[in-house]
Amino acid sequence: MFDSHTHSFFSKDSRGSPELLCEAAIRKGLDGIIITDHVDYDFPGYTESSGIDFGAYLNYISRVSARYAPALKVLKGVEVGIQPHVVDRILNLVQSYTFDYVLASVHIIEGIDPYLGSYYQGKTKQQAYGRYLEEVLFAVERFPDFDAAGHFDYIIRYAPYPDRSMKYADHADLFDAIFKKLISTGRGLEVNTASYRKNNGGRAGGGSSAGGGCSAGFDINILKRYRELGGEIICLGSDSHGPDYVGYGFDEFVELLKESGFRYVAHFEGRRPVFEAI
Ligand SMILES: [Zn+2]
Ligand SMILES: [Zn+2]
Repeated sequence: MFDSHTHSFFSKDSRGSPELLCEAAIRKGLDGIIITDHVDYDFPGYTESSGIDFGAYLNYISRVSARYAPALKVLKGVEVGIQPHVVDRILNLVQSYTFDYVLASVHIIEGIDPYLGSYYQGKTKQQAYGRYLEEVLFAVERFPDFDAAGHFDYIIRYAPYPDRSMKYADHADLFDAIFKKLISTGRGLEVNTASYRKNNGGRAGGGSSAGGGCSAGFDINILKRYRELGGEIICLGSDSHGPDYVGYGFDEFVELLKESGFRYVAHFEGRRPVFEAI
């Protein structure tokens, strides 16, 4: 199994070297890891000098990959932060380098970082989550060169609601539109375990998940519907910003995936999905 979503010190909000991520992955018994440091053009506070030198980044990962083979496969990824006005710039970046995996994520909605809390002011939970999913739908429909959609439930992490869980039934039309687009274009859906760590969205619980720990609050109906529509590509990611949470919650989420009808998880190598039986 691979952790398809990890960050190293190349990302400004992360600490720890790629080597430390690899050591953590080996301790967890993973077969591989994809390092997916950030590009977030026009993030609040973004300056050109705060961006990653992707030539140096990819060279670094090549060296790490050679060092840990064959015990651990280390792959080159990038997490691109989609906003409508930066699509062309991101496309240029993605097509200028050779990645194994391009993860398309939404971190900013209408110029606001939900981490700050003001995003939620004056919005019901239905409105706040629905607006986020609209941006995810925009990303999967308008950004033409990615492999999987990242953390569809990112918006729960900083939400102020007593029950922060995101329910399929509350946003069925948006989920269906996102899933149909992913499926028809051969892209994958990421299941991101970070949103369910005890220090963020998962704490609220209240979901219909079968899991009681790492996956508390996760609505399994989201996975069941993706499967029902023909979804086959599921990528597991911890979104660990350093070595501490590599592989977090994977055992529990694999059980949810089995319960939802999945027999495989996937990771991407050379921009193509590779399936592993679960
Ligand atoms: Zn992200
Ligand atoms: Zn991330």
